[in-house]
Amino acid sequence: TLYNMVQDLKGNIRVYCRIRPSFRAETKNVIDFVGDDGSLVILDPLRPQKEGKKVFQFNRVFSLTATQDEVFKDTQPLIRSVMDGFNVCIFAYGQTGSGKTHTMSGPLSGSMKDLGINYLALNYLFQLSNGRKDIINYGIHVQMVEIYNEQHKLEIRSSASENGLCLPDATLRAVKSPTDVLNLMKLGEMNRVVSSTAINNRSSRSHSVVTVHVHGKDISGNTLRSCLHLVDLAGSERVDKSEVTGDRLKEAQYINKSLSCLGDVITALAQKNSHIPYRNSKLTLLLQDSLGGHAKTLMFAHVSPEEDSFGETVSTLKFAQRVS
Ligand code: ADP
Ligand code: MG
Repeated sequence: TLYNMVQDLKGNIRVYCRIRPSFRAETKNVIDFVGDDGSLVILDPLRPQKEGKKVFQFNRVFSLTATQDEVFKDTQPLIRSVMDGFNVCIFAYGQTGSGKTHTMSGPLSGSMKDLGINYLALNYLFQLSNGRKDIINYGIHVQMVEIYNEQHKLEIRSSASENGLCLPDATLRAVKSPTDVLNLMKLGEMNRVVSSTAINNRSSRSHSVVTVHVHGKDISGNTLRSCLHLVDLAGSERVDKSEVTGDRLKEAQYINKSLSCLGDVITALAQKNSHIPYRNSKLTLLLQDSLGGHAKTLMFAHVSPEEDSFGETVSTLKFAQRVS
């Protein structure tokens, strides 16, 4: 399609920004302008003149009214490439409370209405695999891993073992339907490490990685094998060192390290550098096969619109602009 061609011309790294709706009507909103072309203007609440405006450019910006389906529609071409043998990584980046988990998982309890990319992507992979009669013996396996303080631990264990692991020590679980996927995601969500911070009582201090392995054979016997990584990153907020100590400080330092390493890797790839510093963090090491080469990467930069988040919003947008 034309859309695919345009995306290919843009290269293998793209960055979307998503703005979450404001929760507090009484606070000022720092979003000044959202363009159809991926431009975004924000306004410094302390300097609300012309000089307080900051302009950013991404591949796409989703305003606060964007639905899960609209966001998924622009993600779909990447999911389709998984079926064509490409490895794909999708990241959700942003401060705690900016909507990362909403984009990736959506609310997992209650109605199925607002389910996020993880579920919609899996559902779409099932649809595509049913539609492709040229590929036989399709298998879709999912594994969930959590990276906390530069260590990874298994969330999901299963007795079924399979070949072709992208992540060490982790066992794959076969999924046969969207319902299997939903049940697996609920299990994973419950196991995620959460602890309290000043910003949010149940702030996520770990990176959660859902990996989908797809394999199959075409009619001439060639093997198709690819994977899709869906990554809900730990909150990117900088912590005040005077406020946290001990374990909380250690967590914050690990998070800073792995997020800045991820930024370095994606930047090096975007600049087509010969050295890509994968080895500097556990996260980039685990995702190495799916970052760079023929792999495709999508980063969602999430921002909160309230004025008291302005500082974090600027640093998220700068991070995202750097990798695009
Ligand atoms: P994060 O994972 O970045 O910490 P969450 O995804 O948990 O943030 O979002 C914080 C809160 O805002 C949650 O209650 C979530 O349901 C809500 N929320 C986030 N994004 C949206 C959105 N686009 N529309 C409606 N509610 C949202
Ligand atoms: Mg979250």
